[in-house]
Amino acid sequence: MALSDEERKARRKEYEDTHKELRASWRDSHKDELAAYREKNREELNRKNREWYQKNKEKVCLRTNKYYKKNISKYDQYKKKSYGGIRLESLSKVDPSLKCANCGCDDTRFLEVNHIKGGGMKEHQKRDDGMRNMILIIRSGKRGTEDLNLLCRACNSLDHLERVYGKTGLSVVWDKKED
Ligand SMILES: [Zn+2]
Repeated sequence: MALSDEERKARRKEYEDTHKELRASWRDSHKDELAAYREKNREELNRKNREWYQKNKEKVCLRTNKYYKKNISKYDQYKKKSYGGIRLESLSKVDPSLKCANCGCDDTRFLEVNHIKGGGMKEHQKRDDGMRNMILIIRSGKRGTEDLNLLCRACNSLDHLERVYGKTGLSVVWDKKED
């Protein structure tokens, strides 16, 4: 009698569970052969992977989403910690003093990368390597920082307004809190 999909899956899982260590040690002792096999059949394997992915796309997305949602705090913590460090590193490449070039604000939470002569949006749209985030672009070394400076978010907004409307009469004052 033919097995149903469910039954076959269950048997396979049972087999994999009981033979886990055996399989792992086999893989371990056949590393070179496996690597050679993968190298030799790379295109075929890639094609199969792609086909499998296309067929199972929705399932994969669902699983990834579910995993992400379950572990969201872990991801967030990781992202915050690592991205925060990367951000400061990139900002200090633009200006080691980590200050707004206009008002002097040195609260790094408010600082943003600014194109001194404008053209930020153009660069944004022109990039074809998929990198849209200045922090990551600077970090990658794909562009220099000579035409960039740091502005706090308030001064950056004002800069934008004055580019669009001309002089606005607005000004930003950084009233540094002493603590
Ligand atoms: Zn400012």
